[in-house]
Amino acid sequence: MADQTHLSNLSGNKKAWPVYLTLGNLPATRRNRPGSFAVLLLALLPVPPKLTKSFADHLQRQINADTLRGVFELLFEPLQNAALEGVNIDCADGKVRRCFPILSAWIADHMENVALHEIKSNVCPKCEVLPGELETHANSHRARDYARYERGERESASDDSRTMFETLGIDLEKNVFHRLHRVSAPGLHKPDLLHTVYLGLFKHLMDWISGFLKKHARLQAFDDNWKALPPYSGFFVPKKAYCEVTQWQGKEMRNLGRCLLGVLAVALRQPDSRQVIPFKHALDCVRALVDFNMMAQYRSHTPETIAYMEEYLYRFHRMKDIFLEFRVSKRTRAKVDKQRKELRHQRAQSNMRVAPSKRRRRLEEDRDEENELRMDMIHTESHFNFVKMHLLSHFSDHIRQFGNIPMYSTEFGELAHKEQIKDGWRPSNKNDVERQILHSYGRQHAIRMRLSNLNSLRCRGANLGDDVLGYLDKTTSTVSTPAPRGRILKGRRDDVSDVLDFCKVLGISLDRICLELIRYSRHNLPTERRLPEEPAILQLLPVELLTQLEIPVLAFQETDVYDIHRARCTGTHRFRNQESRNDWVWVQAGSEEMYGALRGRLRAKLVALFKIRDCSQDTVRQLAGVQMLSPVNSGRPSDVHSLVTVQLREDAREFTLVDIGAILGLAHLIPEGDRRWLVNSRIDLRTFNEIY
Ligand SMILES: [Zn+2]
Repeated sequence: MADQTHLSNLSGNKKAWPVYLTLGNLPATRRNRPGSFAVLLLALLPVPPKLTKSFADHLQRQINADTLRGVFELLFEPLQNAALEGVNIDCADGKVRRCFPILSAWIADHMENVALHEIKSNVCPKCEVLPGELETHANSHRARDYARYERGERESASDDSRTMFETLGIDLEKNVFHRLHRVSAPGLHKPDLLHTVYLGLFKHLMDWISGFLKKHARLQAFDDNWKALPPYSGFFVPKKAYCEVTQWQGKEMRNLGRCLLGVLAVALRQPDSRQVIPFKHALDCVRALVDFNMMAQYRSHTPETIAYMEEYLYRFHRMKDIFLEFRVSKRTRAKVDKQRKELRHQRAQSNMRVAPSKRRRRLEEDRDEENELRMDMIHTESHFNFVKMHLLSHFSDHIRQFGNIPMYSTEFGELAHKEQIKDGWRPSNKNDVERQILHSYGRQHAIRMRLSNLNSLRCRGANLGDDVLGYLDKTTSTVSTPAPRGRILKGRRDDVSDVLDFCKVLGISLDRICLELIRYSRHNLPTERRLPEEPAILQLLPVELLTQLEIPVLAFQETDVYDIHRARCTGTHRFRNQESRNDWVWVQAGSEEMYGALRGRLRAKLVALFKIRDCSQDTVRQLAGVQMLSPVNSGRPSDVHSLVTVQLREDAREFTLVDIGAILGLAHLIPEGDRRWLVNSRIDLRTFNEIY
């Protein structure tokens, strides 16, 4: 794994180019956890300075490439023998096995792969696709085969093979992976969500969408929705208007993928007759890419999920032409302008002879013709031939061969850079930096591994000296507590002590509350446990009002990892000096077959979280007051954008009581106006998998 990182913008834009090493058969969740020691800093590569195109720099570039190759030969040398002869390795089960460690993946962004594979920048490191075919959907291009190229080179040093090498963008001599034993250089390349999707296609897509929204005068609507997004677990609510955001990093792009479809769907609602088709195509295209990205994050796959991914990608390719006009280069734009000028000039001459009565119709026809010619020109001149567009077509094959995609994520980089590079850079003397960084982390790593080993020996009851035990107690953290399984109410308010106060604070009449309490008690509690129904007694029952509910939600495709959703309900009180927060939640309201795609679960707004004590039985009930939304169209997803709409009906009860156990987690709703919301099913993988 390798990825360049900035050390400091001072002292001459200092950069580091670290190479990390890890074992392929570790679970990705463990590898990417802070302090896991699963990723080891192996080397710091020489960072070549930026060069111009002059001859002196050409020479320098040669020298750089040779140096890099030399460094890699040094790095790979220990692997070469081990891969051929094998080495004896102590395994965790106490057995010793003959192992053949090989380099199985090289995780890096595209430009780095370009440098190391020594290929051209618009060329795929895995297959022989031609630069002009990068935008096509087919993934049937022949895999790169360096052994064949080498044979070709040996057998015929003719012009033919040189042309072939030129077309395929290959320089065998400089490919650092080329001569590794038991390694296929094209197989080292792994798909990468961060660079290919978030920083690649999503970035392009946002440019096209901006152009599209401007053309149809919907940019303002998009921006308004963007700023009105509600909070959600792990989602950063945008503080700025979309067009004011200047820096789009991986984190922001990932956030964008979670809400883009919903925000766009609201911005493009109520199209006029000419907008219906283009709006539908644009939403289809965006939806296909968003869904492809969602499914690419799955940690386990079945043939069905892979088939879905391929279908999404196919749909994206089929629909992407709707955005082609926003990929117009300056050259094409100039051509289009010239064509229009000529056309108008010709017309001006021929239209002079047309009677004024016919002139208007003629003008309309002319405009249509002009548009058609313009689109023709754009379609022949513009294209989507860039390499990241093509790399998507390798995703599904990768899953079939190697398993899930997050496993090979480049996102480990940020963490590793901090722990292993930047923490070593800061105390260094800034002169002999590389050596100091390598030593500093190497030592820390060795010490921590030793402590881990001692700790594990201790757990198995090994006889360790008192001084060692004392030291272990001081340095190793205690076992972390397991995730809570129950719901927890927090944030007690002190202005409520009984049902009467409760009514005043919520601004709901006592009759209403009593009615709801009785209704809840009759529907949910066994006869002998019911609340008293006498209003005089009921209104004096002690009540505690709370502002937060923690709900553990099982993480998607996990069996023991929980995400904690924190639902806030502050009533009219302000939350952290901002507006009051009364979150949207999911409530289990019926059986699986109910409410279409929502599967028995309804969206609701939290109105109150409270505990009520029934003094006669000395029991405490933990309840939530919610306002239920009803699904529109029986919960069927829309044909246009595939999202479900919910609404607050005029006749909806302002207050329904449910057990806090019926609250399943936070919900993400995108306001659509007039008491209607879109259910954002792309907000996380769990919701995506459950609502469709
Ligand atoms: Zn390819």
